[in-house]
Amino acid sequence: MLRTLLILFLLLPAAASAQDRVSVGIYHGRPVTRLTLSPHASGQVTAERALLRGKVALTASGGLVRCKERKALDGRKSVNLSAYGGGVWLSGPGLPRRLHKGDITITARGNRLRVTAMVPIEIYLQGVVSYEARDLSRPEAFKAQAVAARTYALSKAQSHSREGFNLCDTPHCQFYAGFADINPVAARAVMQTAGEIITYKGKTISAFYHSACGGFTEGISAVWPYEDKPYLKAVQDGPAARPYCSPATGFRWKKKITFSSLERALKRGGWLKDGEKISSVAVRGHGKSGRPLKLAVRAGGRVVEVSTSEFYHAVGRTLGWTAMPGNLFELYSGKDYIMLDGKGAGHGVGMCQWGAEGMARKGFKYWEILEHYYPGTRVEKMGKAGKEK
Ligand SMILES: [Zn+2]
Ligand SMILES: [Zn+2]
Repeated sequence: MLRTLLILFLLLPAAASAQDRVSVGIYHGRPVTRLTLSPHASGQVTAERALLRGKVALTASGGLVRCKERKALDGRKSVNLSAYGGGVWLSGPGLPRRLHKGDITITARGNRLRVTAMVPIEIYLQGVVSYEARDLSRPEAFKAQAVAARTYALSKAQSHSREGFNLCDTPHCQFYAGFADINPVAARAVMQTAGEIITYKGKTISAFYHSACGGFTEGISAVWPYEDKPYLKAVQDGPAARPYCSPATGFRWKKKITFSSLERALKRGGWLKDGEKISSVAVRGHGKSGRPLKLAVRAGGRVVEVSTSEFYHAVGRTLGWTAMPGNLFELYSGKDYIMLDGKGAGHGVGMCQWGAEGMARKGFKYWEILEHYYPGTRVEKMGKAGKEK
């Protein structure tokens, strides 16, 4: 099914592929012990083909779905919902309340529930772009984001094939929080670019993107050494004195991280052993964009080298993503802390979202924005030759 989906996207003309759907793992990585379904005021929701009115709660035990309110849903391995119109609200203990649409399947796995939603990709993108471009304002920046997100979704469509769906709803794939907060500019950008993707020599690219590059994007091989893509190279993001992404909130940042916090992050990632105390941290080498390549952490009488990318992810996961907003920084090692003096936010690879906004403000069109961040590529309608400019 996943392979079929991908082949369909690659082969069919845009009119057909625009109707194609993706399956998304909802609440991925969170334990779902109880799920409350509540149809939206204008929702047309059916559960196992019977109209759903009012709230019902589902739980799981012994691999079966349990439901007190509705006999027809009780004791099944899975429950199929069809949620159209305004959609259905999902909520539960420890879960954010979210409005979802599409064909939703709720399956019992032991004493937990697994939720997947089959959604037309163009509808899914309205949710993704509303969130990803939430700080931006220019329609051309939204369109660039829509095409990048569509392309990225296609290139990641097999990421979760073993779990039985295409994409998860977390930033691992692309953050997808449903339809409670659709931005009309985002919805229009998705519609106006329907079926358009970014290609390199005729093939769909891996369209990485990030918040703000700080003046220079980074080549992918400097961030993930096992990857290399000719279109993911370091790109200067506008004039050095005033990069395209300089309007970004928090463009320049300074963060202090204590050695004890850093020890927690690096122990969790397996770089440091219990009891090892950090005495200093130093930068080893720089990428073309000026990002440090590696950090040498002196601890417990030895020096551990951690790539900046691993360091950034370890700090983000353990201390929160605001503890170290990005990977372009200068580092000062103090007595019991490091001080980071940085620019931009995110991993720096591919399209710079704030740079897209800056370029749109200067009058660039969305395909010019995309061709700037992904050099050598072009924007094409799926199944057609190059876009007319
Ligand atoms: Zn994922
Ligand atoms: Zn930038």
